[in-house]
Amino acid sequence: MVAISSWGRLNNFEHEVITLSDRHQVAQQLKNKNTGIAYGMGRSYGDVCLNPNGVLWQTTALDRFISFNENTGSLVCESGLLLHDIQHLLIARGWILPVTPGTQLITVGGAIANDVHGKNHHGLGSFGDHIKWLKLLRTDGTLIECGPELLPDWFCATVGGFGLTGVITEVEIQLRKVLSPWLNTETIAYANLDEFFQLADASEAHWEHTVSWIDCVAKEGRGLFMRANPIDGVEHQEPKARKLTVPFVPSVSLVNPLSLRPFNTAYFNIKKWQAGKSTAHYEAFFYPLDNLLEWNRMYGPKGFYQYQSVVPRAVGHDAVQEMLTEITRSGEGSFLAVLKTFGNRQALGMMSFPQPGVTLALDFPNKGQRTLKLFKRLDAIVREAQGRIYLAKDARMPRDLFEAGYPRLPEFLHYRDPGVSSALSRRLIGY
Ligand SMILES: Cc1cc2nc3c(=O)[nH]c(=O)nc-3n(C[C@H](O)[C@H](O)[C@H](O)COP(=O)(O)OP(=O)(O)OC[C@H]3O[C@@H](n4cnc5c(N)ncnc54)[C@H](O)[C@@H]3O)c2cc1C
Repeated sequence: MVAISSWGRLNNFEHEVITLSDRHQVAQQLKNKNTGIAYGMGRSYGDVCLNPNGVLWQTTALDRFISFNENTGSLVCESGLLLHDIQHLLIARGWILPVTPGTQLITVGGAIANDVHGKNHHGLGSFGDHIKWLKLLRTDGTLIECGPELLPDWFCATVGGFGLTGVITEVEIQLRKVLSPWLNTETIAYANLDEFFQLADASEAHWEHTVSWIDCVAKEGRGLFMRANPIDGVEHQEPKARKLTVPFVPSVSLVNPLSLRPFNTAYFNIKKWQAGKSTAHYEAFFYPLDNLLEWNRMYGPKGFYQYQSVVPRAVGHDAVQEMLTEITRSGEGSFLAVLKTFGNRQALGMMSFPQPGVTLALDFPNKGQRTLKLFKRLDAIVREAQGRIYLAKDARMPRDLFEAGYPRLPEFLHYRDPGVSSALSRRLIGY
């Protein structure tokens, strides 16, 4: 047994780890008397990828490129391949992953199972929208090949199905043409939520990527709005960014009320002063946190939560304002806080997170009951607004909020593999 945690480092549970490395042998490896769950890079924050005292099918050795069509941008690969490796190999050849989240240190299987979103949801939807087909292995040995037109019900259950329909072994992804790894960017400071929504509305038609940093200690909702478009014809140069590492787990969280307010004020003012147009390498713009390895250690030995919700656009302003008021009143939070809008499109996955609206994501050092009490107040706002919480980030949502937020749950359960179980599924579904 090996102690394994997820990105939030809230717990360190014992697991029996079975490494999957040959896609032709996976069927045999899944036959086990204990239930299991696939585990990619463990970049999910909560318990979606954990199975305490059970089996973890570690997928990162299923990392082969199988074929690539340089004319069409169609990539066939194994599910444990990292998005980072795809980007590094193929951007220089003029192809890019259409949708990526705020880190590229995740697997293709993890990106599908959580149907991850990026900064371009308003234009290109989520990761699952770009999958042509996938192979799903069930613990009874059945292989299901599915896609948007081939057994679409299995496909829609597996995209965003948080690993519960089986193990994805192989995938075909449609990449996007790109002429350079560089982006034209613009950063604009906003003073409150009204300005944020005006910027979001004005940007969606002309900017491919939009996102904002929000100052969670300022209840009026000030922040920095960032938007970007790919640019053509800049010579390919490697970025100079140096990777740093948080070398050890400090005995207390480095993120606390004493550090948070001065940090946020200084960050906002410096960036406001530097705001304007610029060019950025795609890695710096899309994955700024990947340059600080093991940054999750800075929250200390008790770890941290991320609370990410999405609420419909019509009530978005008021709901986000209420959440910010609760958060500033509590004095909790961290400088990692993101506010962004999702486009007006329904995700194809039955259990996918993105829905039209606005999403707020904030990290919180784990302070036990104090933090959980704040989440209860935030939950009430999300419930009232008919929103939902992102399962990839969750470690504590109450079951009724899960059921209300994911109305397709009963339909999804028909596709569940009975040999697969996770801490999250037991907590929210009961098995
Ligand atoms: C810095 C940072 C930024 C992030 N930004 C974003 C963001 O902008 N947008 C966003 O959507 N997410 C974001 N995330 C969350 C992250 O993208 C997801 O949690 C992602 O799913 C993690 O992938 P993973 O390979 O680490 O999978 P894991 O966390 O190991 O697993 C995630 C889920 O996928 C399942 N799974 C993994 N492999 C397979 C497989 N082969 N077959 C079936 N199921 C499988 C697991 O069972 C589990 O349910 C961010 C995370 C971090 C740490």
